[in-house]
Amino acid sequence: ERLISSDELAADFTDDLTLRPKFLDQYIGQSRLKQEIAVYIQAAKSRQESLDHVLLYGPPGLGKTTLATIIANEMGVNIKTTTGPAIERPGDLVALLNDLDVGDVLFIDEIHRLPKNVEEILYSAMEDYFIDIIVGQDATAHPVHFPLPPFTLIGATTKAGMLSAPLRARFGIVGHMNYYSEAELSQIVLRSAEVFTTNINEDGAHEIARRSRGTPRIANRLLKRVRDFAQVAAKAEIDKEIVDYALNLLRVDSKGLDETDRKLLTTMIKLYHGGPVGLNTIAANIGEETDTIADMVEPYLLQIGFLKRTPRGRVVTKAAYDHLGLEMTND
Ligand code: ADP
Repeated sequence: ERLISSDELAADFTDDLTLRPKFLDQYIGQSRLKQEIAVYIQAAKSRQESLDHVLLYGPPGLGKTTLATIIANEMGVNIKTTTGPAIERPGDLVALLNDLDVGDVLFIDEIHRLPKNVEEILYSAMEDYFIDIIVGQDATAHPVHFPLPPFTLIGATTKAGMLSAPLRARFGIVGHMNYYSEAELSQIVLRSAEVFTTNINEDGAHEIARRSRGTPRIANRLLKRVRDFAQVAAKAEIDKEIVDYALNLLRVDSKGLDETDRKLLTTMIKLYHGGPVGLNTIAANIGEETDTIADMVEPYLLQIGFLKRTPRGRVVTKAAYDHLGLEMTND
C-alpha cells in the first residue's frame, strides 16, 4: 500500500473519525463550492424543505465524504452512508430509503458503480419520493408502491464521466472538487496537529503540504508518520528538518512523488525517450495493473504537468525531466 495513495487505507479509518471537520466553517478550501452550498442550506432551512440532491465529484481523498457529513450536520439531519456496489438489489435500496426520516441524507459513495436496475428505481425516488418495485416471484409477483419521506441524496464519484445522463440530471447541485493549494493543505495540517495535540511550526506544516499531492487525506497520513519520527527523535515540535528527514527516508520526494511515480517516469524516459507511450505498455513495463496506473498514478502526474496526454499516448514533460535531474534529448 502506497503511503501517498489517495484512497482510504484501513489505518485511515479511525483518523477520519477524529480528523473530519464537522461544520462548514471548519472545512478548509473549496471556497466557491462551500459558499454555494452554504446558500442552498440556508435557503432550504428557511423554507423548511429538504436540501436538493447533491453530486460531488473529484479524486479520492479530497473531502467528499467529509462534506456530505457536514451538509447533514448543518441541515440538522441524520446521514446514512453506503456505497454503490453495496446496494446489490432494488430491495436493498428500498430498505435504506425506508429507514430515513424526513429531510435525512443518504450518502452513496462510488455512485457510478450502482447496478443498473437499482439506479433505475432511484430516479422516481429522487424526483417524486416514491419507489415502485415488483415483490414476489412468478405467480405471486405483484407491484408494490412505496411512498418515501423527502430526503437528500448525496452521491460521490471519482469518475463523473461514468455516470449515466438520466442519473446526473436528477442532481440539483453539482460540485466539482479541486486539488488543494499548498496554503490550504498547510492549514489542514495545522488543524489536524491540533486535534492530535502535536506541536508543529508553520514551516513544518508547509513542507508536509508540499509533499501531499494536493490531497488532505495524504497530508493527514504524512503528518501521522512524521509525528512518529518527531516523537522518537524527542523533538518538542515538528519542524521542516524532521519533515525532510522522515519523508526522505520514506522516499516521498519534494513534489510528493514516490518510487512508483519515479519508476514510471524514468521507464518512459529510458525505454521510450519520454513517449508517446500507451498506458498498457507503461503498466506492463513497470509491473502494475493498467487500472492502477490510470486511477492512482497518472492523475497526479498529469495534474502537476509531469505527464501530457496525446492521441498517441502519454508523454513525459520537460518539468518532469528537470525534477528528476535528467537531460531531455532531441530525437
Ligand atoms: P473523500 O470522500 O473525497 O475520499 P474524505 O472526506 O474521506 O475524502 O477526506 C479524507 C480526509 O481528509 C478526512 O479524514 C478529512 O479529515 C480530511 N479532509 C478532507 N477535506 C478536508 C477539508 N476541506 N478540511 C479539512 N480536512 C479535510
